[in-house]
Amino acid sequence: MRAAVLTAPGAVEVTGDWPEAECGPGDVVVAVRAVGMCGSDLAVVDGRRAVPHLPWALGHEAIGDIVRVGAGVAPGRVGQRVAVEPNFPCLRCPACADGRTAVCPNRRILGINEPGALRERVAVPARFAWPAPPGLADEDLVCVEPLAVALAALARAGLTAGERCLVVGAGAQGLLVCLAARALGAVPFVIDPHAGRLATALELGAAAAPDDGLFPVVFETSGAPPALETAVERAAPDGRIVLIGQSSTPARLSTFTVVQRRLTLRGCLIYDHPGDFAAAVARVAELRPGRILRGRYPLAGVADAFARARELPGKTWITLEEPPR
Ligand SMILES: [Zn+2]
Ligand SMILES: [Zn+2]
Repeated sequence: MRAAVLTAPGAVEVTGDWPEAECGPGDVVVAVRAVGMCGSDLAVVDGRRAVPHLPWALGHEAIGDIVRVGAGVAPGRVGQRVAVEPNFPCLRCPACADGRTAVCPNRRILGINEPGALRERVAVPARFAWPAPPGLADEDLVCVEPLAVALAALARAGLTAGERCLVVGAGAQGLLVCLAARALGAVPFVIDPHAGRLATALELGAAAAPDDGLFPVVFETSGAPPALETAVERAAPDGRIVLIGQSSTPARLSTFTVVQRRLTLRGCLIYDHPGDFAAAVARVAELRPGRILRGRYPLAGVADAFARARELPGKTWITLEEPPR
């Protein structure tokens, strides 16, 4: 089948001979309609995030239609349109037993330690293929996974209606935090050095952050080390800082600021299964996260899509055209 693969650092190609998806017991095979691109995919392509081997199938934010079910899965699921939850915790370890599946040490991740979903068909455990709400546009469905990340971050921050928050970074994840904060009745202010990304956030209802002033809640979504410094500088006394972006490059922090202002810094890694993902599926029609999509490419244009994704504001997505009959 066709698949978008990384063949060397920075080199993305479409291959025609990726092995067919094998449908094990408890699995479903999804014929992929579309895949959203995200920062972690770019990190894989750049070589900042190691993958088990090359060539490597990319992508994790997949939607599509169930075309086959394995033993033990209701045959009636064939034909369902679904969003894939691309992190598969083991559901057996102590962390999973506590419901903290994001920190499961055995977690399998499409596109990171399991071959990715940017291909014609992918097999996933049935419980990680979430039926689409009726009538939902593919544009909104393809953003369910990063929406789950944003909603989990809002919940961890304890953001409340009427509260002002600062969103550092207006990439796809920052835009989704802004949308979700607005829907909650909170007031998101955003900063981003890229004029196009900032303009996109303003179109979606965020306000440009003033040059000074402190915020009770700050979301750091970019992963750039200087952005963490900004997040700390702009947090008000007793402020909560939630970090979604990540980098292995150390940032410079003043512990004086953190202690004097009694700040809480909280890392927020994806979402816990199944509650956080169920919440995103339940709210996707209301929040319409497809509004953050901008660049759209066919599978054949995937190399261009990766080359341009950093410059394009909004989220880039790949749609798989009908295979020739
Ligand atoms: Zn993602
Ligand atoms: Zn586990």
